[in-house]
Amino acid sequence: MSVFHISAVVFRAAEGDQETLTLVISTAAILCPVTLVLLPLMNYLGMSIMRDVYQLPDQLNKFRLQDAECFCCTHHHRHPETGQELICDRELVYQTLTDSYSPSQRLGSGFKHIFVELSP
Ligand SMILES: [Zn+2]
Ligand SMILES: [Zn+2]
Repeated sequence: MSVFHISAVVFRAAEGDQETLTLVISTAAILCPVTLVLLPLMNYLGMSIMRDVYQLPDQLNKFRLQDAECFCCTHHHRHPETGQELICDRELVYQTLTDSYSPSQRLGSGFKHIFVELSP
C-alpha cells in the first residue's frame, strides 16, 4: 500500500463515506499506539548500535591479546561442572599466531598491538 493509496482512502473518508471513515479511524487507532511504542524502541536500539560502532576503532586500538579473557583460563582449565581438564585455548591461539606471522609481520595499524609481546 503506497502513500498515494492511503491518501486516496483518507480523501474518500473526508467526503463522507462512513464505512471508509470507520476503516481509517480504526486503522489509525491501531497504528498510532504501535508507532508510539516502536519508534522510540527502534531509535534506542539504533543509538545503541551506533554507540558500539563508534567505540569499535578505539577498542581495536587498545585491544591486547594478553588481556582477553577466555573460558578455560578463568576456570583454571577445569570444567566447572564435570571437573574435567580443559585444553588452554589461549596457548592454541598464541601457537597459531606465532606459526602464521613472523615477528616482523604486522597487520593493519589497528591490530599491531596484538602482535607486540606475543609471548604468553
Ligand atoms: Zn583460556
Ligand atoms: Zn588457558
